Amino acid sequence: MAALAAARTSVLDRVAAAAVRARRDPATVALLAVSKTVPPERLRAAVAAGLTLLGENRVQELAQKAPLVPGATWHLVGHLQGNKARRAVELCTAVHSVDSVGLAARLDRLVGEGMGPVPGPLSVYLEVNVDDDPAKSGFRPRSLAEALPAIAVLPRLRLEGLMTIGRLGDSAEPARATFVALRRLSDRLRTVQPRLGAGLSMGMSDDFEVAVEEGATIVRVGRALFGERPSR
Ligand SMILES: *Cc1c(COP(=O)(O)O)cnc(C)c1O
Repeated sequence: MAALAAARTSVLDRVAAAAVRARRDPATVALLAVSKTVPPERLRAAVAAGLTLLGENRVQELAQKAPLVPGATWHLVGHLQGNKARRAVELCTAVHSVDSVGLAARLDRLVGEGMGPVPGPLSVYLEVNVDDDPAKSGFRPRSLAEALPAIAVLPRLRLEGLMTIGRLGDSAEPARATFVALRRLSDRLRTVQPRLGAGLSMGMSDDFEVAVEEGATIVRVGRALFGERPSR
């Protein structure tokens, strides 16, 4: 637990420094600890160390771990297939990877059936494939503008904002353009669709400081907290 507490402090310090550089209040940036491949024993220690907001990218792994890690709140960050949506709604308080109108409508319907861990709307982020990268899922910026009206009318979703995955590179800088583009897209879309929140889910271990400088409100950090993952 001491090692996880130290890792948490180090990441939070880096988040705070990046926020200050951008003249932002560090308290406006949440830390989501992405815990894929990390076993439940270690996640209990993470919760004890203050990392209570955990993110998984696969519903099946989340479902296996959640009962073994009391005190955690779970977000889903990975691509969600329609047939796993029910389980996701049962376990998560937020889904960062909503990438189609159909998935949004399905989540809305499931929340209406009272499936969620907490009453009330489900928090969602709309995933945007800002760079048009064929390897990534998410809305293309233009198709999001077209899809947004149909999503904004879904009453049981809280549209927290937008999510993206930065461009991979040798440094964090290649991701900066992606993060700036997501922020500008959010600014643009919110002038026409006030139900879209100002949240920006962006930044991972290699680029979270740049993401905070460019406006991230929640960073999704795995390896910088838990260490390198075993290759699957
Ligand atoms: C794994 C993952 C992360 C965390 O990645 P790290 O590089 O370990 O910080 C963030 N977001 C998504 C969608 C992920 O799948």
